[in-house]
Amino acid sequence: MRIESHKSLKAFNTFGIDCKARHFVSVSSISDLKEVLIQKLHPALFILGGGSNMLLTKDIDAFVAHINLKGISIVSEENSQVLVEVMAGENWHEFVQYTIKKDFGGLENLSLIPGNVGTAPIQNIGAYGVELKDVFESCTAYDVETLEKIVFSKADCKFGYRNSIFKNEAKGKYVITSVVFNLTRTDHKLSTSYGAIQAKLEENNIDKPTIADVSEAVIAIRQSKLPDPAVLGNSGSFFKNPVINSSDFKQFRRKHPQAPFYEVSATEFKIPAGWLIEQAGFKGQRFGDAGVHKNQALVLVNYGTASGSEIWDLALRIQKKVKEDFDIYIEPEVNII
Ligand SMILES: Cc1cc2nc3c(=O)[nH]c(=O)nc-3n(C[C@H](O)[C@H](O)[C@H](O)COP(=O)(O)OP(=O)(O)OC[C@H]3O[C@@H](n4cnc5c(N)ncnc54)[C@H](O)[C@@H]3O)c2cc1C
Repeated sequence: MRIESHKSLKAFNTFGIDCKARHFVSVSSISDLKEVLIQKLHPALFILGGGSNMLLTKDIDAFVAHINLKGISIVSEENSQVLVEVMAGENWHEFVQYTIKKDFGGLENLSLIPGNVGTAPIQNIGAYGVELKDVFESCTAYDVETLEKIVFSKADCKFGYRNSIFKNEAKGKYVITSVVFNLTRTDHKLSTSYGAIQAKLEENNIDKPTIADVSEAVIAIRQSKLPDPAVLGNSGSFFKNPVINSSDFKQFRRKHPQAPFYEVSATEFKIPAGWLIEQAGFKGQRFGDAGVHKNQALVLVNYGTASGSEIWDLALRIQKKVKEDFDIYIEPEVNII
């Protein structure tokens, strides 16, 4: 293992923020990982995946372990089901494309999400009506203190909207090393109810879509809506869509009858954070090199040399204005470091 010091992380985070890691190592085997955990070369350990869900506001005074574990294997194939185990350092979208080529169904709606496979359970990634939990079987992780290998079942992970045990009581306690997915080999259950997917399939004259058709539709929609981090630094949706209770929702609707919403349950209502930010006047605004994307108010962007704290200042300003205007608190989806 090659340990580097004061390494720039600019190429390792999709915001393109030029912060440094005190120590940096690329972990490409379980024995590398154990060595890193045993050696504890620095009291603090920082796990880095694809860097697509973090805003670095300062240098990382820690031992940064970049998870680069690779490999995909079929665990079992029975009837219409296939279990596939994927190592944590595999690129998410490349893995999704592998499943499409193999005609394994379940991940097509999650095409083109940046990041690594091992990080996907942490915020229960989701898009276009599908969440990771819908296809999740289990994941393997190592306890950073005891080095014990633990297998987490779906129930253990306590998945919620952009949430799991790994963002709460298990935060920072485990390194996920692989994930097992439960996919369909036959009788794929397509999820095409999202208006944008339906419209794209119609536009392509497809009335009996395959998983490849759905994946292509999702890729085209995402490319037309979201900025490519390779061109314009960003971390996707910066804030979660807030969920409010029915009495708050009644008041909100009285004041803002035109507001879009989604009924989560009889007592919970989700309001699109992008709409709130747009109404608060931030869409397309730019402050130095930190800005709000011109088409997607939910996406904060780095036009070039913004620092993480400049982007964070903008996020706080947005949060405050949304609270003042709507009495709704919007919480970051991105990890603020
Ligand atoms: C353009 C764009 C679009 C996006 N669209 C979506 C979307 O549609 N839906 C969605 O849900 N998300 C979306 N995201 C967010 C992001 O892609 C996901 O959250 C992704 O899972 C992050 O993976 P990563 O490997 O880049 O994580 P990182 O940013 O590297 O890490 C995120 C957190 O997980 C920890 N971590 C990383 N790897 C491990 C590991 N192996 N074990 C334990 N902890 C670990 C890190 O310490 C950090 O706290 C988008 C991001 C971008 C840039």
